[in-house]
Amino acid sequence: MRYAPSDSPVLTLTTGPVDAYPAVLRGLASPVLYDYDPLFLATYQRVCEKLAPLVKSQTVPVLLHGEPVLALEAAAASLIGRDDVVLNLVSGVYAKGFEGRAGRSSAEIVELAVPYDQVIDPAAVAEALAARPDVTVVAACHHDTPSGTINPIAEIGAVVARHGALFLVDTVSSFGGMAIDAESAHADLFVTGPNKCLGCPPGLSILGVSERAWAKMEANPSAPRASILSILDWRDAWRADRPFPFTPSVAEVNGLEAAIDLYVTEGPEKVWARHALTARACRAGILAMGLALWPADVAFASPTTTAVRTPEGIDEAALRGEVRARYGVVLSSGRGATAGRLTRIGHMGPTAQPIHAVVAVAAFGGALTALGHRVDVGAGVAAALAVIDADRDGD
Ligand SMILES: *Cc1c(COP(=O)(O)O)cnc(C)c1O
Repeated sequence: MRYAPSDSPVLTLTTGPVDAYPAVLRGLASPVLYDYDPLFLATYQRVCEKLAPLVKSQTVPVLLHGEPVLALEAAAASLIGRDDVVLNLVSGVYAKGFEGRAGRSSAEIVELAVPYDQVIDPAAVAEALAARPDVTVVAACHHDTPSGTINPIAEIGAVVARHGALFLVDTVSSFGGMAIDAESAHADLFVTGPNKCLGCPPGLSILGVSERAWAKMEANPSAPRASILSILDWRDAWRADRPFPFTPSVAEVNGLEAAIDLYVTEGPEKVWARHALTARACRAGILAMGLALWPADVAFASPTTTAVRTPEGIDEAALRGEVRARYGVVLSSGRGATAGRLTRIGHMGPTAQPIHAVVAVAAFGGALTALGHRVDVGAGVAAALAVIDADRDGD
């Protein structure tokens, strides 16, 4: 049998948009209240306050009402002023993309770049800052999703903090799937969202803001006000004594509350452990089939995404097409500089379950074999199961 493009996929194992938890879908289906109804105002405040111990920012997290590229635009426009020199740490497509956002408001952008299968070395950041003491803002991406690599963000953040610059970090595709928060990252502006590892649909951004970042934004004459890019306007937005800057995404806020409740009930450490185990099983299966991971060192590999190098002679789009047509499984492509060179298997939210790694390995290996690149699918499946079973034995 074949799945036609018009057939619904059986499993979506992508890196975003990701499958949503059923409880989140039920949250989204709650009655859509008037935004000034006291019940919704209370929900809005409760959601922001429930995020506080998870994001661990110095002040109560702020919601913006669009998927996290909105928050990245808003962060660049609000934090970075005409006199700021920005050090942009580039190990992938998202970090590189930040250059364009930062370029609209900064005096200068200095780049520290590594090949997209590597990660940023904190010592190199220290050197770059020593060479440019005038750097006032450092920007980084924790998990550059199109490469499936994790930067050592806590160590980088400590270097930035010693220098005294403000630190802006994108954790959109790692937050909720591994141990990362604004405090451990030393982040002044912690940009994330619920639409990857928290298992919500795209539609909201979450920002963790330090006291210094608020002061900087308030003093920045070019920081947007009365704009969809204004972070300042959304501070403490639930306060009954003033209007929302514009209509909040009521249904998405209800969905986010369901996601937070699920996450807290399961326990963040447990959630992170199942993301890590799923990724470990997936990597073992891929390697046992004689394939290569995209990250140059397995120590760089993300627990929320497994990026597999496309074997020589294989058309990456055709490979994903075959995975979907044969098995009904949807995987992600690369993006920009990694497009055509790798395939990504997402382990995010509800798909971060070890058995999905077995499915992904089998489907990937089966499709490759069908395209003429013969791999030992049985060995891949056995290796993935062995990782899962070894973990179970440890319980
Ligand atoms: C998903 C993601 C975002 C959000 O942006 P989209 O490209 O619109 O999905 C931002 N940063 C990172 C690292 C992401 O993975």
